[in-house]
Amino acid sequence: MDFIYGSCPECETKLRSPQDAILIRCPTCKNEFQVSNPINKTQLYFIGKRIFFIGLLVFLSYFVLIPIVSIAMSDRLVFLYLIPIPLLGSIVALVGLTLMAYDKFSNGDRMVVVELIVIGFILVSIFGFYQTVSGFNGIV
Ligand SMILES: [Zn+2]
Repeated sequence: MDFIYGSCPECETKLRSPQDAILIRCPTCKNEFQVSNPINKTQLYFIGKRIFFIGLLVFLSYFVLIPIVSIAMSDRLVFLYLIPIPLLGSIVALVGLTLMAYDKFSNGDRMVVVELIVIGFILVSIFGFYQTVSGFNGIV
């Protein structure tokens, strides 16, 4: 964990606090004060997170729908017809993740590695779906 160093505005005691702390209480004089530039997640981050989970649900619903629809329609190529569903879900999740990463980054948080890895993974799977569709078109 990263720490920021400073001093209490009341008694000048040297302090050290976690980087994401917003409110600090001085151990010497019990004075409470706000950290001037806290790294926090804003509304945009949580909106992005919500969009990401909606996209994820749409994506996962594909794998629930395939067996149901293929039994109902007795068509083995149903997984191809339904590919727009996970594609749409991936794109929605991608938008959510981009918002999350953008919000963290604009708040001075450079730890967006996880978001970037997931974004990369989604891009690869979108490409995979595209390859599957175009591959089948080539055979037919
Ligand atoms: Zn103090």
